[in-house]
Amino acid sequence: MSDFFERKKQQLNIDLNDVQQQAVLATEGPLLLLACPGSGKTTTMIMRIGYLIEEKHVNPRRIKAITFSRASARDMTERFTRFFPDSEQVDFSTIHSLAFTIARSYLTKIGTSFELIEGGGKGRPSVTKPFLLKGLYKDMLKEDGTDDELASLSTFISSIKNRMIPLEQWETLKGPVDKAGRIARKYEQYKSRRQGHLLLDFDDMLTIAEQALREDEELGNHFRNLYDYLLTDESQDTSLVQHKIVEHLVAHHGNLCVVADDDQSIYTWRGAEPDYLLDFRKVYPDAQVLMMERNYRSSQDIVEMASKFIKRNDKRYPKEMHTTNGKCEPITIRQLDNPKQQLEYVTYELLGETDLNEVAILFRNNSSSTMYVNELHRRGIPFFMKDADDKFFSHWIVKDILNFMRLSFNTERKDIFAKIVMKMNLFISRSMLTKFENAATTGNVFDAFIQTVDLKDSQAKKLADYKKGYAVIPEMRPERVIQLIRHDLGYEAALKSRAEKFGYRIDNLLGILDTLEGIAAQLRTMVEFANRLKELEKAVQNAKFNPSDNAVTLSTFHSAKGLEFRRVFMIDLLKGIIPSEEDEHEQATLEEARRLFYVGMTRAKERLELLSYGQDEGKTKEDSRFVNEVRGLLLRPRPAKEEPKSVKVTKASIPLNPEGIQDSEELTVGTTVKHRVFGQGEITGREGNELHIQFGDMEKRLDLETVLSLRLLEKLVI
Ligand code: ATP
Ligand code: MG
Repeated sequence: MSDFFERKKQQLNIDLNDVQQQAVLATEGPLLLLACPGSGKTTTMIMRIGYLIEEKHVNPRRIKAITFSRASARDMTERFTRFFPDSEQVDFSTIHSLAFTIARSYLTKIGTSFELIEGGGKGRPSVTKPFLLKGLYKDMLKEDGTDDELASLSTFISSIKNRMIPLEQWETLKGPVDKAGRIARKYEQYKSRRQGHLLLDFDDMLTIAEQALREDEELGNHFRNLYDYLLTDESQDTSLVQHKIVEHLVAHHGNLCVVADDDQSIYTWRGAEPDYLLDFRKVYPDAQVLMMERNYRSSQDIVEMASKFIKRNDKRYPKEMHTTNGKCEPITIRQLDNPKQQLEYVTYELLGETDLNEVAILFRNNSSSTMYVNELHRRGIPFFMKDADDKFFSHWIVKDILNFMRLSFNTERKDIFAKIVMKMNLFISRSMLTKFENAATTGNVFDAFIQTVDLKDSQAKKLADYKKGYAVIPEMRPERVIQLIRHDLGYEAALKSRAEKFGYRIDNLLGILDTLEGIAAQLRTMVEFANRLKELEKAVQNAKFNPSDNAVTLSTFHSAKGLEFRRVFMIDLLKGIIPSEEDEHEQATLEEARRLFYVGMTRAKERLELLSYGQDEGKTKEDSRFVNEVRGLLLRPRPAKEEPKSVKVTKASIPLNPEGIQDSEELTVGTTVKHRVFGQGEITGREGNELHIQFGDMEKRLDLETVLSLRLLEKLVI
């Protein structure tokens, strides 16, 4: 056994610490490993798998490792191969793919055919989830839902299924749009309206798999017998239905290792249930719970700052992240003048980097990435994108702008004119347009429209002006053309009234136009511009599927979970972006946004740069409150101990132990105590505000104030 650790130390230069070793060795029965970022959760999990195979001679096929996303499944497979090159591969997969296998067997068994309406797999579904929701929204609320509304409706449905809320209760739930619960029910009805055939979204896979394991004994036993050991990483983002699937699968042997960090829980909006972990022992009464607080990843500055930062959250399991890593460079906070300068700064810095694999640019919203894609592509800097945002290129605004441009090549094209005339802020109605389309006109579309349709003088005058505008477009550079479309051809004004009418966020829409202008900036002709968009779309797809060997990573904070880089740029850290306006509404969502920021910060090994800008298109921008929090903490050298927040912490999440010691006098050297996580121990010393306790062969140093206020210790009379 110890040979195993010694061997791995020699081979990999990873010397597992006591708790990590304990976690590796505790192969039988349930284990919860709660730990800080960079403390080696994933590493330990992989070592444990290797240990099972090399030392306990478990067949790799009988081990199932569940990861959060397909990307992390790939990351784990790669790490496993690096650690155990001679071993047969273990199956790392997402809970969704496991659920899919189970649901498919079940549906086949009961003779029900099905069709996936989400995720765009093989073949084209007859209908998609967004399409269905769009129709149902209109049916129920008698108006079109905006993209944002439909997206939040979709998330709402996903979250109620993940939370396993029974169908009968859906209508009573408060949803993101009016009658959300009813729309959700109708959606379910529609999907199963054909006898013997189901339309299924991703979440149905989970619900069906859970139900099948619970109700169908034969099928349940088949899947229970497939694996002897289960492990789940990033379990703070596991939802209730997913936890239940796992429960069913380990019901026979209980060999389950759950690895999590509640401070990195960033998907509760989608139904993740981090509180499940706090009740882990209710489900698995004989579970071992281990904590790891030493961060191996990041420099001292980063670890200390991140640790102080996350303590601002009230609802959390108390942890004291620390490191023995040395100092590197202090965290940099930089406010640039505008987005362009931020972009220039980052690209300039990248040009000086040789190992781009060790650098990441992280952002809250995918929309931030397009300008970076453009600049990196232009300069030939290779990049990798985990969840590439090729949606930008098919956005209707991009199509509009291209159509506006296209018309300038031939102002007799009625078909193109028909696509944009209602977007010129002329208050043209659908019936006016139909009349024009049906009329047999020829020649310049502006003249023809004025002649065919009954217009107000002001409308006719504007159209005549637009015609003049169009005459000069072919001579212009594309950047100037976009500005002309925005300001002189009424597009931006039309966009604003459309945004008001349909509830779109105008800033997002204008952002797309700004990005297009940015892309056009270095180009000479509209043809070059159109080609450039195509090229970029291809580059984004390539960056996802065939990244170069040495590429900088572009990622959202969400998708960066679990990863690490020597240098991290967190960009666009502005008020309204992180936290978003909606995040600010409630304490819970604000804390989730803070966790998201924390996930970003803790990706950096040596260098962390927090970037924002002060102006955008003449509008003043404010820094994210989280940047200000870090700024404040940087100014105060050692507030960690006095910070009252760290003490209040978990009141909301962990019930206080009524037997827990509250009086410091009771904590004398030699006293035997029981810690809620570490179990039985003996107090071996007290130093200032630190309490030394020997738990088995592990000595822990605990913060006295935290121990008392959270009543973490109980006196044991032996
Ligand atoms: P996250 O919460 O971000 O997912 P994690 O807890 O899973 O982080 P890992 O990714 O497993 O952490 O480990 C972080 C880094 O620390 C890795 O580079 C890993 O190789 C290193 N590491 C972990 N444990 C040890 C150890 N005992 N000795 C040396 N390095 C270690
Ligand atoms: Mg990890």
